[in-house]
Amino acid sequence: MTQPTLETISNLAKQRGFVFQASEIYGGSRSAYDYGPLGVELLRNVKDEWWRAMVQLRDDVVGIDSAILQARQVWQASGHEEVFTDPLVECRNCNARHRLDKLEDANTCPTCGKSGTFTEPKPFHLMFRTHMGPVDSEENLIYLRPETAQGIFTNFENIRRTNRLKLPFGIAQVGKSFRNEITPGQFVFRTREFEQMEMEFFVRPEEAEEWFSYWQEQRFAWYVNLGLTEGNLRIRPHAEDELSHYSAETVDIEYRFPWDWDELEGIANRTDYDLKQHSEHSGEDLRYFDPDSDERFFPYAIEPAAGATRTTFAFLIDAYHEEAVKDETRTVLRLHHRLAPYKVAILPLSKKEELIEPVERIAAELRRRWMVEVDVTQSIGRRYRRQDEIGTPYAVTVDFESLEDKAVTVRDRDTMKQDRVSMDRLVDHLAEKLG
Ligand code: ATP
Repeated sequence: MTQPTLETISNLAKQRGFVFQASEIYGGSRSAYDYGPLGVELLRNVKDEWWRAMVQLRDDVVGIDSAILQARQVWQASGHEEVFTDPLVECRNCNARHRLDKLEDANTCPTCGKSGTFTEPKPFHLMFRTHMGPVDSEENLIYLRPETAQGIFTNFENIRRTNRLKLPFGIAQVGKSFRNEITPGQFVFRTREFEQMEMEFFVRPEEAEEWFSYWQEQRFAWYVNLGLTEGNLRIRPHAEDELSHYSAETVDIEYRFPWDWDELEGIANRTDYDLKQHSEHSGEDLRYFDPDSDERFFPYAIEPAAGATRTTFAFLIDAYHEEAVKDETRTVLRLHHRLAPYKVAILPLSKKEELIEPVERIAAELRRRWMVEVDVTQSIGRRYRRQDEIGTPYAVTVDFESLEDKAVTVRDRDTMKQDRVSMDRLVDHLAEKLG
């Protein structure tokens, strides 16, 4: 099927309570978004699935949660203070500002359509600045982190030592990052506050190439296993002039967004750049000691760096389907079961007291395992449609017959098939289906 437009997805996200513009009652902005009751579940499921694949199911990766506010020296050592910039041009005709490397035509202003009106590009600094403590002085200047990775590098030795880790091993982190993007936009694709899922995998320098390929395969498979259409995914190597200041080699995993192919995740060979820089600037020896060969050396870091919010957006787009059912159009989010915000909806056929009692009992039982919604409003057909639209894999209907036969109807979101299941088998039945 053809992809939904950006507008279709952002409308659905807003109307169904996935995502709202931050500060919407004051006009809102494109810089930051608030995740509503459904969005927070979807986002959390995406992060949990990443953590499960990257940490829980592996014996060579551990987790960390480092501070957003780090010492300024961290960003001086990492090189961000000096070079974390994007090329900014301004249109002399309409004063719009654009990021030069993202323009389709580097000579034409997409806002007013005029050509040859851009100023010379100048480097625009992407880190947010603030002050730590009560005095707004230069000594107190700090930055909001623009990537989670540096908290991993600065804790390299703490974590290696306390967990007695041997190469190769990884340290994973999920958390907020901030970049003062020149042009935020395309809904939650590019925002100034966003969430990342990053992992630094430390290896012997001579094994870096091999692990670089390994992580490309692993990460690509992660998206496919969670239901992203494989044909909408590709791996694109960076050209020499695109590489970040720390990278020897980078590929992007890209998704076919409604506007074009665009980045979901970058996988970089950061070499020993960061550990060396922090050793030099801090005076701490961050080399790894190999007791077998009696050598000390700086490991290389292979980094898969994904956006949690951006990835959540891609899952939402890919899951969106419209299909004709009888004379109507049905909108359905075919989200992978593990990602769906609610796993089960419980729908009494009517609001009558005698049906509410079993509904509450079933809900209490199912809630111990899954996110469950009870919906008592409107006709049953409409309630099914609503659950389809928010991606709930199963709807359990309790009707008057249920009082007699102690059974309920379980409807499958994707096939719309309905099964009659006895109440005492319901948990097992759903557990088999939901995995
Ligand atoms: P771009 O070229 O799109 O600005 P980048 O190459 O600078 O992105 P990385 O530094 O590789 O991005 O960050 C890793 C991941 O973090 C990206 O693949 C993306 O998913 C996410 N990310 C980066 N910047 C943003 C942003 N402004 N809003 C949302 N997600 C972001």
